[in-house]
Amino acid sequence: MHIFNFLLLAGAVAALFPASVAWTRRHAPGAPALLAMQLSAAWWLACYALPFARLWPDEGMFLRMRVIFPAVVSIAPLTLIFVLSYTRGTNTWRPSRLLALAIVPAVVLAVALSPLHDLCFGTWRGVATDSIFQMGPLFWVHSLYSYVLVGKAVLALVAAYAQGSTYVRRQTRILLGALIVPIICNVTFIAGVSPPDLDPTPIGLVVSGILVSLAIFRRGLFDLVAVARQKIGSAITDGFIVIDAQRRIVESNAAIRRIFEIGQPVKPGRLLGEQLAELDEYVARPGNTPTTTEFVHGGTRHLELRTFAICDDDGNTIGAVLIVRDVTEARRTSLALEQANAQLKAQLDTIQSMQAQLQEQVIRDPLTGLYNRLYLTDALARELTCSARTQGSFAVVMIDVDHFKSVNDVYGHALGDAILRALGGLLRQQVRPTDSPCRYGGEEFVVIMRDVTLELAVERINELRVAFAALRFASNGLDVSRTFSAGVALFPLHGRDEASLLAAADAALYAAKAAGRNQVCQAAVHVES
Ligand code: GH3
Ligand code: MG
Ligand code: MG
Repeated sequence: MHIFNFLLLAGAVAALFPASVAWTRRHAPGAPALLAMQLSAAWWLACYALPFARLWPDEGMFLRMRVIFPAVVSIAPLTLIFVLSYTRGTNTWRPSRLLALAIVPAVVLAVALSPLHDLCFGTWRGVATDSIFQMGPLFWVHSLYSYVLVGKAVLALVAAYAQGSTYVRRQTRILLGALIVPIICNVTFIAGVSPPDLDPTPIGLVVSGILVSLAIFRRGLFDLVAVARQKIGSAITDGFIVIDAQRRIVESNAAIRRIFEIGQPVKPGRLLGEQLAELDEYVARPGNTPTTTEFVHGGTRHLELRTFAICDDDGNTIGAVLIVRDVTEARRTSLALEQANAQLKAQLDTIQSMQAQLQEQVIRDPLTGLYNRLYLTDALARELTCSARTQGSFAVVMIDVDHFKSVNDVYGHALGDAILRALGGLLRQQVRPTDSPCRYGGEEFVVIMRDVTLELAVERINELRVAFAALRFASNGLDVSRTFSAGVALFPLHGRDEASLLAAADAALYAAKAAGRNQVCQAAVHVES
């Protein structure tokens, strides 16, 4: 066996190496296609290495061509599938697309294996000894097709290089090399530069395999973390940019382009200020990180920028991560929520004030503005409980306007109302804040006076009586005045419950009326027999 055959066999084994790595990382985008590619290359090389001519003297070279051909036709489609899977970050392909890619190779292979093989291999057998090589028309169709596919793969890699981060660029550079070497080898074969019975393409594929191995081990191709990072970077809606200490862009994701509506890809290596001047001015100077800033972009959009410093082991800032989030919608929602909240609060305030008003209305007398009888019942009960506990005393005073009926009869109801309002006002002004003046009904009033002696209560009501008698009301040029009579009862001296206290005060009032009106009487003490 020729030494050259050994080299080819070694090349076939070498091609299996990247294949085995691709197998262990077969879930990474492009790995399955790379695996298939390397297996094809290994097959191709192994077939070259085997001494077919010695094994089958008649058929040798022709048989080898047929055995090799499945690998020949599959390499270009597999290359394209590998590159597109890698650049798009997915191994998922529509079956129809795979089928479309396989049509030409399948037809060429079918013809090559059929009796029509001359359409493919041309006059191979006949002219092999003259070293003039002529391939059939289908071979050229296949070659053209393969070049179109590989050309597409090269373009996809170039695009990935142009848009990619520094990290991606390092990988795509090597992969471009891995694509171009077999192309050069194949061109030399097709152009007739290389010997006709030795196609150097598979050797190019071995070199290509070595380069891919380099991409795998030195540049982290199929590195799960890197793949995940790339996926996350393109999937998240927040934009991110990594900058170095000189504010040069190291990496960015697709969301940045979308957020800032940039047509061109963000180019790694360029200064942030050149590419995104707007963002640059908001990025804090090193040492001031992390920060959160909000700014308006394009007049209407609110963007939130968060900056995180990247430090080395010595704590020196070597770069920063900038995260940009479009918070326009969130702001709008929170603003709407705030407005709705404020509206709700205003409505609640209105309801509460209406409720308070209603409560006031329930316990207030509309004519005088004093408490009404309903309130008096509660106030008396409260006072009784409180005084019983503190062993204090309080007075219950019943007031009744003298000859009030005649006011209505002689001067009219309106003047009567005015007099009642005036007495109400007087009561409000003159009693202490702790006392509760109430309109008992008609022209009768009750005042609860807290913490008083009988004498003090009588004295106070007398002052009130004098003040009321001094009031003058005009009616048709006449001065009208009125007096009142009052009865005072003291807890616990004249009664220990609501009814007995009111009855005692009423009795005292009756006594005052009987004694000639316009006076204050205190209740009589009943001596239990
Ligand atoms: P006395 O000195 O004995 O108390 O005589 P009086 O006229 O005040 O006695 P009476 O209780 O009979 O009269 C009460 C009057 O008060 C009868 C009613 O017309 C009048 N009155 C009751 N409520 C109101 C009111 O809200 N407005 C007016 N203008 N008059 C009222
Ligand atoms: Mg009365
Ligand atoms: Mg009266």
